[in-house]
Amino acid sequence: MTKGLSVLGSTGSIGRQTLDVVRHLPIRVAALTAGTNVSLMAEQIAEFHPLLVSMATEQVAAELKARLTGETPLVLWGEDGLLAAATLPEADTVITAVVGMLGLKPTLAALDTGKRVGLANKETMVCAGELVMQRARAGGAEIIPVDSEHSAIFQCLMGCRDRSEVRRLILTCSGGPFFGKTRQELEPVTRDDALRHPNWKMGEKITVDCATLMNKGLEVIEAMRLYELPPEQVSVVIHRQSIVHSLVEYCDGAILAQLGVPDMRIPIQLALTYPNRVPSPASALNLLDCPPLTFQKPDLETFPCLQIALDAARRGGTACAAMNGANEVAVGKFLCREIGFYDIPRLVTRAMGATPFVPDPTLEEILEADRCARQVCEADQL
Ligand code: NDP
Ligand code: MG
Repeated sequence: MTKGLSVLGSTGSIGRQTLDVVRHLPIRVAALTAGTNVSLMAEQIAEFHPLLVSMATEQVAAELKARLTGETPLVLWGEDGLLAAATLPEADTVITAVVGMLGLKPTLAALDTGKRVGLANKETMVCAGELVMQRARAGGAEIIPVDSEHSAIFQCLMGCRDRSEVRRLILTCSGGPFFGKTRQELEPVTRDDALRHPNWKMGEKITVDCATLMNKGLEVIEAMRLYELPPEQVSVVIHRQSIVHSLVEYCDGAILAQLGVPDMRIPIQLALTYPNRVPSPASALNLLDCPPLTFQKPDLETFPCLQIALDAARRGGTACAAMNGANEVAVGKFLCREIGFYDIPRLVTRAMGATPFVPDPTLEEILEADRCARQVCEADQL
């Protein structure tokens, strides 16, 4: 059970829900970090009294300091601030709830110091999952997934003593706001259409990834890395109701599933309390009120991002880092209304093609692939 906690990205969707869980648990919040949301950070400081906080830039950190009165925490900024929060001795657990590659170095630093990482930041596993797993082993640190599908799999694997008994992991996918639409219907969709997710309320980047199904592609790679399985042993089914969070099929034909209401506070809390379970602020699923549960094949033609990710997963090396870096930039452009919906897979494919491929990369080579793919994608005028 967690005693001291650092939350990286405390003002975001996962960060706020983490603090909501902490409100009813005997956990000391040791550090909080955010980007630019000074007013929410000031409120969180007043409520949780962390020892250390960090903001994206020096200027934002100065703005925050100017607002604080009385006993104030140490206020840092930038990458150094994130690293300090990730390695603070008073925290035994770090929840990584920042978006994108930004999470990689702090995640590695937390694992090096032997801390439990409650991993929400999937981009880190996608780009450098093998390295992350090695560093966790070397640091004697645990990674407990927060992503609902991976938490479901983690729960379905509890009690499995021999991983060779696992035939495959089955990730469920809501299908996002555009499920059932044709390519023609989706050509003109805008950011506002993409931001209307049917079942989950999340940050903007992941919500767009859910609309393109890139999110499920990232999750296939995240699952392969976390559970050290090849791509053939991870499959995806569309499950519109988001009640079955994922499943594990064993070699004897038994399939275990984890069910619950779609509320991230359940997997977040488990990452904090594991191996124990305690009552949660989320409501329990009432099976008698449940809609019929349906399962379908994903449509890879209409949602090419999932196919791109499955191909990158098979290729390995720096392919996933290049794909992820390009996707972060392309989604940013889509959110700024600079490009259309299908320009996302177009830009990602082109940036991946222009990024040199390294089969068995070091951390530096992964970071270089990420940089290169971002640059190509930024400069691409289509
Ligand atoms: P949000 O966009 O809601 O939150 C992102 C957080 O990161 C905010 O606190 C933001 O601060 C902070 N941040 C942004 N830029 C910086 C920076 N330069 N330095 C430090 N902090 C920064 O994202 P989500 O909570 O939705 O997602 C977080 C991660 O969790 C993602 O990797 C996502 O894929 C994953 N995830 C999310 C789920 C969800 O339900 N939301 C479900 C499963 C996984 P500020 O508010 O100040 O900008
Ligand atoms: Mg998920």
